[in-house]
Amino acid sequence: MNDAERPPIPAELKRRVLVEAGHRCAIPTCRHIDVEVHHIVPWEQCKEHAYENLIALCPNCHSRADKGEIDRKSLRIYKANLRFAIEKFSQFEMDVLFDLYTTPIGKGIPFPVYLSLLIKRLLDAGFVKIVPIGTGVKIGSIKATPDALLITDKGRDFVKSLGIEEIGY
Ligand SMILES: [Zn+2]
Repeated sequence: MNDAERPPIPAELKRRVLVEAGHRCAIPTCRHIDVEVHHIVPWEQCKEHAYENLIALCPNCHSRADKGEIDRKSLRIYKANLRFAIEKFSQFEMDVLFDLYTTPIGKGIPFPVYLSLLIKRLLDAGFVKIVPIGTGVKIGSIKATPDALLITDKGRDFVKSLGIEEIGY
């Protein structure tokens, strides 16, 4: 490889990848403290340093990834898990987000508005939105009939950026 053709990873980008993994190997059962930045799709193929494609690995896991013992999809899942953890999304929220991702654009799923606290972080992130349906039936002051829950373009971009939607994670 000719190093002159490969620019170094910008310091800010490298820091972001390392902070994402807490300056430890991104493999949860490893978490070694010596870390290098690995390209999930090899540099030789992508010729760019993109955040979505970078993951912090220890030298040992790095060479296992280079040999294909840890494949790209696995690496994407490990990276996605780190990103969920940083965003503090719950497993329920991720299930909701992936479910909405598979619904046709503009279509939502019924969601009782009184349960919106369960998806607060998705709402706060602007990844989903609640669209009222009619006036609904109220029990006391609580609207008992569901509204529609929709994924936003931002939410779609987030799922897409994880690169794992095709494996139905
Ligand atoms: Zn490791």
